[in-house]
Amino acid sequence: MKLFLLFAVCFQISLCFAEEFDLVLNNGRVMDPATNLDAVRHIGIREGKIAAISDTPLPGKKILEVKGHVVAPGFIDLHAHGQTTGDMQIKACDGVTTVLDLEAGVYPVAAWYRAMEDTAPLNYGATVGHIAARFAAFHPGMEIGHWAVNRAKIAGLGAEPDGANKVARDAELKLMGDAIKRGLDEGALGIGFGINYTPAAAPGEIAAMFRIAAERKVPAYVHTRAFGIAAIEEAINAAKTTGAALHIVHVGSSAIGDMREVLKLIDASKAAGMDISTEVYPYTAASTVLESAMFNPGWQANLKIDYGDLAWAATGERLTQESFERYRNEGGWVIIYMMKDENVEMAIAHPGVMIASDGVPFIDGKGHPRGAGTFARVLGHYSREKKLLPLMEALAKMTILPAQRLEGYVPMMKGKGRIALGADADITVFDPATVIDRATFESPTTASAGIPHVIVNGVPVVLDGKLVKEARPGRAVRINP
Ligand SMILES: [Zn+2]
Repeated sequence: MKLFLLFAVCFQISLCFAEEFDLVLNNGRVMDPATNLDAVRHIGIREGKIAAISDTPLPGKKILEVKGHVVAPGFIDLHAHGQTTGDMQIKACDGVTTVLDLEAGVYPVAAWYRAMEDTAPLNYGATVGHIAARFAAFHPGMEIGHWAVNRAKIAGLGAEPDGANKVARDAELKLMGDAIKRGLDEGALGIGFGINYTPAAAPGEIAAMFRIAAERKVPAYVHTRAFGIAAIEEAINAAKTTGAALHIVHVGSSAIGDMREVLKLIDASKAAGMDISTEVYPYTAASTVLESAMFNPGWQANLKIDYGDLAWAATGERLTQESFERYRNEGGWVIIYMMKDENVEMAIAHPGVMIASDGVPFIDGKGHPRGAGTFARVLGHYSREKKLLPLMEALAKMTILPAQRLEGYVPMMKGKGRIALGADADITVFDPATVIDRATFESPTTASAGIPHVIVNGVPVVLDGKLVKEARPGRAVRINP
């Protein structure tokens, strides 16, 4: 009788075990840059979390056989302006599981997070944006929300609007600072700056906003005032004076020809104890909106380029003075050919520099391919084909490093960017021999290849190489969830 009972209990346990994983990834090559694990392991997922990492194959309700494929933490994109369902689906095919807009950000914050609920295949989040807070201060009642998406609201203010082009007095500084504090209270992931887009924001204003970042112990994510080392020095000095942590966005376009000196400066600042980081996207062309203050008179000297280096994103045509003015009045996205391969490669290979796409919203399938191909391009083109950096290092730059950038002040990021027991089951499965970007400037939304499965909070958003169109497992990333 006793024996029978024991047998019955064991049978029950083995049944429970068989039932216990919602999803299993068997026989994959698990690569976890947080621990440097690179070995065949079997992953069991339960209730959206990694529940087992096993030496032997696991049973589960659904089993994916992933032999010969890398099983990596899902990619975290710190710089993703495209946050519509469609933009996220394109990024899912590139292996991304979390998209954060830390540069431009949003304001108001709570309303934006509310509007994102149930729309998101990927995890999402944003900083409170200095640009939008500044426009709210100068244009009472103006709620831009997500700057990169709702730029038409600014275009409606006419040429050179006050929000970008007028120096702030005490009253506006107070409104701006209060708006930013409110955004942080509502869960924003730091303070985002696009100083280039608000040229009237004087150094004193930037310092005042950096001071809020320092008080709240959140980083300032900064697109600097201009391109080249002088503007990066300005941001670093402001961060040093105020004690704010600093993240310089898209160092490829921000540093342009000064890449070697800029990377040296960032490393030296870090060595001196400063909390500073940076990121790069793997393309030599930038992209932004032509009507923005970045193209106020003097842009050629600032960007060190001319009309013919700009292409109208909707058609691909190169611009002339005439078409520049016509399209600037109309408003829309341009591609900016402004970087050299050797400098972009230097940043991709440099230790500690993260990979982030700066993907902008796709409009009618047009835009910059970085929103669709950034991560596969680094893995396939730069790591495998050009041997610029080992695969594990490339993965670190898109998983654990971005998670660590945030986790000191966003506790939920401790559950991301790693393959670990109890971590969120955000997982990307790719074939290291074939993973590659397919998006081009002619066809910017073409999905990356060689990434058969992408799992967000335990739910496949890409399965067997196909997008799961109805999947919406993305959750909000906030300071206080
Ligand atoms: Zn930018």
